[in-house]
Amino acid sequence: MDKKLGVYICGGCGIGDAVNTEKLAKVATKEYKAPLCRVHPWLCGSEGTETIRKDLAEGAANTVVVAACSPRVKTDAFPPDMAPIFERVNLREHVAWSHKPKDEDTEMLAEDYLRMGIVKAQKSEPLEPVSEAVSKKLLVVGGGITGITAALEAAEAGYEVALVEKQPQLGGFAATLKRRFPVEAPFTEPSVDGFREKIEAAGYHPRIQVFTSARIARTEGQPGMFDVAIETPSGASTIRAGAIVLATGWKPYDASKLAHLGYGLSADVITSVELERMAAAGKIARPSDGKLVNSVLFVQCAGSRDKDHLPYCSSVCCVATLKQAGYIREQSQDALVYIVYKDMRTPGLYERFYRAAQDHPLNFLTKGEVTSVAVAPGGMLTVTVTNTLVGEAIELSADLVVLATGMVPNSADGEAIRALEDAEVRSVKGESETERAEAAKKAEELKLHKGTEILNLTYRQGPDLPVLRHGFSDSHFVCFPYETRRTGIYAAGAVRAPMDSAHAQEDALGAAMKAIQSVELAARGQALHPRSGDASYPSFFLQRCTQCKRCTEECPFGALDEDEKGTPKPNPYRCRRCGICMGSCPERIISFKNYSVDMIASMIKAIEVPEEDEEKPRVVAFLCENDAYPALDLAGLHRFQYDASVRVIPLRCLGSLNIVWIADALARGIDGVMLVGCKYGDDYQCHFIRGSELASRRLENVKETLQRLRLESGRLELTELAIHEYGKLPALINGFMERIREMGPNPYKGL
Ligand code: SF4
Ligand code: SF4
Repeated sequence: MDKKLGVYICGGCGIGDAVNTEKLAKVATKEYKAPLCRVHPWLCGSEGTETIRKDLAEGAANTVVVAACSPRVKTDAFPPDMAPIFERVNLREHVAWSHKPKDEDTEMLAEDYLRMGIVKAQKSEPLEPVSEAVSKKLLVVGGGITGITAALEAAEAGYEVALVEKQPQLGGFAATLKRRFPVEAPFTEPSVDGFREKIEAAGYHPRIQVFTSARIARTEGQPGMFDVAIETPSGASTIRAGAIVLATGWKPYDASKLAHLGYGLSADVITSVELERMAAAGKIARPSDGKLVNSVLFVQCAGSRDKDHLPYCSSVCCVATLKQAGYIREQSQDALVYIVYKDMRTPGLYERFYRAAQDHPLNFLTKGEVTSVAVAPGGMLTVTVTNTLVGEAIELSADLVVLATGMVPNSADGEAIRALEDAEVRSVKGESETERAEAAKKAEELKLHKGTEILNLTYRQGPDLPVLRHGFSDSHFVCFPYETRRTGIYAAGAVRAPMDSAHAQEDALGAAMKAIQSVELAARGQALHPRSGDASYPSFFLQRCTQCKRCTEECPFGALDEDEKGTPKPNPYRCRRCGICMGSCPERIISFKNYSVDMIASMIKAIEVPEEDEEKPRVVAFLCENDAYPALDLAGLHRFQYDASVRVIPLRCLGSLNIVWIADALARGIDGVMLVGCKYGDDYQCHFIRGSELASRRLENVKETLQRLRLESGRLELTELAIHEYGKLPALINGFMERIREMGPNPYKGL
């Protein structure tokens, strides 16, 4: 495209009071020879936007730079697709609202931002979205109530669905229940309304293709075009699906590990799942002699909230026990029910259910710890409980002891399987002993066992979804709970987090909506959030690839496969456009049409660096666009003031940081570099999972180089910051500037 630059500078919202917009226009026309530059008093108004549209329609401009408010606001007035190339320069939040008006330093700041914006537009190319025929059919894996709900919701929204269940019939655990938790006011009684209707509806829905007794032998491809090989007793078939909902549910914690609570000691110590089956079959009796029970003791948190078993709360066991206490009461009005708990956790309206159970005179609930379970003469069970509310140990006798065991997700070992394969490959190839040992250790730590595969993805990163320490699928807990680390694949229900069937159904709806969004965006060749609607994607100049595998290993979403030599094989529909691969590539051969190593390097070059004797230090701040950049906008909104020596460059993710930018900045005489990204670690807040962590690792290497060059390592600083911590940013910037001033100018300035 023959670029025609049009620069539009707004004087509204206090910008015109803070900086000289006419002088700013000269930067565009004189330094960058912009053929078109307009200053407008209120650019987002209809007259202002109409002016831009008219220039575009008449062909006066096709590369537009709007210098006004933050690119995160007023997207209705300035939609990102307004022009083939469209850039925004933040003169409001980052200049006028946060710096002294009519001040030389504020003017210089505005000018640098305009220079960087123009350079960015000059280095951008119009986007050409990927466009292949995509399937909008959804694959739902797991035919329990979560999977059934996801399938029905998607089918009712008009989408074709393939529902795969490993058992011979649909329904999963829900189909085995005698009663559900209360679902109607006054929430004091279990619901008799089971799931039968829903299960039948899924079986007969014209848009749902059901595969039972089925396993997925292979899933290859990418969102919009997953080719899924399904095996059933009646034969094998392949379907093409656009997105996947994983709803494989949960299994009860293995009670054989709970010998200290009496499991295995007597047939009359059972689990709550075993009691549910008994109740559903019509009779609650002692397994040892078949006598109807007259007294039952429930042990809560059996294996849950226990560092030696499941350290988490399984969230449903307390309400399940209250429901099952009702089964006992239904069978015999005189039966005694004991419930021994660590805490009763009955959130929301389930509290009413708890109160109703507490009010029954023959229900005895106490906080306490079960220290022993023994069989007394005559076959009764004696349970010793300590740390009770009454302050002393008590002994209770019961016909039956029920262990409320927790939830374990039905997930596969995903990435861990790949880690083991890597270890095996390395040992075959005879690679470094340390590498092999590390890979084997990782596999061991993740308690890997083969044979757990569910999706059998043909991804370089492994055959299933990456999971967290206890097997729940990894997702962005705060912002994108259904998202997994595989684009277009969503987890719902108890495979994602412990939850009851009511929450699992809500989860299923959420995941189905996300899956629909995914296929619709894939059809348009656009990214999912957090870069929703972005039509760019990375391109690889593979002639210069050294097969170092950094990009394939660091891509958090498994978007890149490899050929046998280790050359990356991009799958653009899996890509989330974070740019982490771009930051990782030592050859700098990965770029986007609107985001590249060269582009950011040129933006750095566009900054005017004053001479040493001017005593005006300059700092470049790379801010993650997801939290840190909007946090700085918020600081501006609150009119917090900070040092005008800092030039902010937003990055898609701190993980897209290529260390050459730091070298470029310091070589140009920039005095320091700040990086502000999302929090990382177990409770990561990074929108691209590992981006800020990877940036921090890369920075360690740069710091070593700085020391070799006799440059203070304090000239580089990485901070983790969440958006709500916007109030800390001005102090952070000012503190860094103070340290830079103490260090004095960059000795390479002017060289
Ligand atoms: S941009 Fe991000 S998601 Fe896409 S290939 Fe690169 S690292 Fe992977
Ligand atoms: S990081 Fe760059 S050089 Fe290394 S494999 Fe990827 S594309 Fe090739």
